[in-house]
Amino acid sequence: MENILIKNGEIYTKDKILYDCDLLITNSIISEVGKNININNKSNIQIINAHGKKVLPGFIDIHTHGAIGYDTMDANYESLNNISMYLASHGITSFCATTMTEDIQHIIDALTNINYTITKGTDGATILGAYLEGPFISEKQKGAQNVNYIIKPDVKLLEKFTNLSNNCLKVIAIAPEKDPNGYFINYCNKKNIKVSLGHTNASYEEMKNAVDYGASIAVHVYNAMKGFHHREPGALGEALLDNRLYCELICDFIHSHPAAVKMLIKMKGTEKIILISDAMLACGLSDGEYEFGGQKVIVDQSIARIQNGSLAGSTLSLDKAVANITTLGIPLSDAAKMASFNPAKAINIDDKKGSIDIGKDADIVILDNDLSVNMTIVNGNIVYRK
Ligand SMILES: [Zn+2]
Repeated sequence: MENILIKNGEIYTKDKILYDCDLLITNSIISEVGKNININNKSNIQIINAHGKKVLPGFIDIHTHGAIGYDTMDANYESLNNISMYLASHGITSFCATTMTEDIQHIIDALTNINYTITKGTDGATILGAYLEGPFISEKQKGAQNVNYIIKPDVKLLEKFTNLSNNCLKVIAIAPEKDPNGYFINYCNKKNIKVSLGHTNASYEEMKNAVDYGASIAVHVYNAMKGFHHREPGALGEALLDNRLYCELICDFIHSHPAAVKMLIKMKGTEKIILISDAMLACGLSDGEYEFGGQKVIVDQSIARIQNGSLAGSTLSLDKAVANITTLGIPLSDAAKMASFNPAKAINIDDKKGSIDIGKDADIVILDNDLSVNMTIVNGNIVYRK
């Protein structure tokens, strides 16, 4: 393994920006950050000139289904590996492979493959685990999920999922009104699986109850959740108001109007928003007809919809989401945090990932001045160069 010295970059640490500074990577770990780092033994070290470039913690996408024609539900190594390489080319250094509401065996196949792929390793971004989106959701807020396979939260079935996949589940999306006594959420708490509330028609109270039981994330806020009314604030009201909840956001300005994004940032602050792509397999491909979650999807001007007009995931990636946030007057440091530190914290991996700190995994993205990805480093390996 090669060590890397990034020279003279604009380095974004958690609390401040260090100008004209260096970052040293040894043994896949960030080992030193500062001015004019001295290397005594210059052999076996690659030097990267980052002058005029921005050095950030790699982006973490906890909710993505696929890209460039590949989908998590393909349930094979090649698909996940290709997705991992595509993501790396957009600055993502780790992600949760996200399943869809389909028949149980198909979900089990996808989960066992995620575990297999984690064990084997990928050539691009690291797979952190699985994000189970459905089948435990609401028929009324199904979005592009297939209604035929929606079922009630089922602890026995979840046990089967975790046993067969070596407990690779990191996040499970549920509609909280289907788990009124918190029985399912409690089980997830015990298994260290984060519960994300979404595809839900929950009232304000039902949503809040679930947070009291320990749910900690809201799925792609504004989308596929009961909206706000001043006499019944709905699932959205609770998501906006409760500081215990992280809010996922698909910041493509298609799933939410820029003003709605501004409002979310005003309500939640920059600490509690997680940028996600919710990307589907047409991400990185041209407009056309595709299949997603067993349904026909038309992608027109990069907007993916099923035949009834519901949005069907996105064609977004986090580099673009971060750039979009900055167009609202939010500094890059805060925008980037929403795609690195916040997701890491939300799924309890911030001890290793999500920020540029001594001792953390060397997951780094280097951006050019126009915020396009120049280089991506995963675990100390350069996996993408422009
Ligand atoms: Zn999704």
